[in-house]
Amino acid sequence: MLRDAVRSLAEAKIAPYAAAVDEEARFPQEALDALTANDLHAVHVPEEYGGAGADALATVIVIEEVARACASSSLIPAVNKLGSLPVILSGSEELKKKYMTPLAKGDGMFSYCLSEPDAGSDAAGMKTKAVRDGDFWVLNGVKRWITNAGVSEYYTVMAVTDPSRRSKGISAFVVEKSDEGVSFGAPEKKLGIKGSPTREVYLDNVRIPADRMIGAEGTGFATAMKTLDHTRITIAAQALGIAQGALDYAKGYVKERKQFGKPIADFQGIQFMLADMAMKIEAARQLTYAAAAKSERGDSDLTFQGAAAKCFASDVAMEVTTDAVQLLGGYGYTRDYPVERMMRDAKITQIYEGTNQVQRIVMARNLP
Ligand SMILES: Cc1cc2nc3c(=O)[nH]c(=O)nc-3n(C[C@H](O)[C@H](O)[C@H](O)COP(=O)(O)OP(=O)(O)OC[C@H]3O[C@@H](n4cnc5c(N)ncnc54)[C@H](O)[C@@H]3O)c2cc1C
Repeated sequence: MLRDAVRSLAEAKIAPYAAAVDEEARFPQEALDALTANDLHAVHVPEEYGGAGADALATVIVIEEVARACASSSLIPAVNKLGSLPVILSGSEELKKKYMTPLAKGDGMFSYCLSEPDAGSDAAGMKTKAVRDGDFWVLNGVKRWITNAGVSEYYTVMAVTDPSRRSKGISAFVVEKSDEGVSFGAPEKKLGIKGSPTREVYLDNVRIPADRMIGAEGTGFATAMKTLDHTRITIAAQALGIAQGALDYAKGYVKERKQFGKPIADFQGIQFMLADMAMKIEAARQLTYAAAAKSERGDSDLTFQGAAAKCFASDVAMEVTTDAVQLLGGYGYTRDYPVERMMRDAKITQIYEGTNQVQRIVMARNLP
């Protein structure tokens, strides 16, 4: 029922704008409005804070179905989970009440600020600093590649509080867009997910109350990594949705397009490609849903499984979307058809929340 409901909504209210959102590199406001009106913008927020209380699998299905229509728009529910999960996992009850309630209501989105210009795969090498000053912390630094920066009201920011302890000297904080000293860089000009704003976040002497720290001092990096264990599965879902969208489009096209006097779908070479695409998508789906169940239960092998789902599904998304372009021939290579957008959008799923090389490092360190 959930899948059918999200699919109908995405087809009616999100898909019609996907090409324009990409072409104009603009925020998908129509998608945010439609998702918020239907309580699908941050489905993971627990019911006690006014949220929909969706479990990890339901959240995955929402993201998958939105991504099938528009990958940029799927970053609304996905990054709302990424940004707020540190608070849900490690924050005080007061912090949860204060920030999950407006998120659930649709009054403010959440972003996640881990990466920096010189700290990507090696995120623990970050330089952003937080220094204690009485009942306050003062933050200074630059966060890079922040999804929905400028649009979001709330930012989970990881910052160094004890430089001598590397990852154990990093703490997490909630920073608000309206805090004095917060500003944003120009939107990045990207290959894909052009509707999703990616900007730098500048923290210039941002003075915040001490109770905005998420969990205890020095636990921010552990919280950030624990968050990724759960949210990499949402990137797998996004990849899965993009791949499914490309397969569905190609499936229709090959039945219409005629060459040599018959629909190209009649050629075995084409049929074999479609069979491989569907087989890979289904394998990615099973891995992703199994990982979602592990996320919900908090299984001990979640780290491996989350990395495996993200890595596998994103590689599948890249292969399937490339094949979809191939199936449309020259037409597939143009912006008159959606598959080239899907191919460009798929690429990011191999890069963010840890590149697929990093996923392989994570898997190797956590072999089942
Ligand atoms: C559109 C977009 C949105 C993003 N959104 C966010 C966000 O909301 N919040 C956030 O915090 N970050 C975000 N990111 C950042 C993203 O997570 C990083 O770009 C990613 O982790 C890679 O870091 P890097 O770009 O610095 O690449 P680098 O770390 O410089 O990597 C360069 C290459 O080296 C490889 N490499 C690095 N180390 C190793 C190793 N040990 N072994 C093998 N290969 C290695 C990498 O796999 C990659 O191929 C986003 C990025 C993009 C592009």
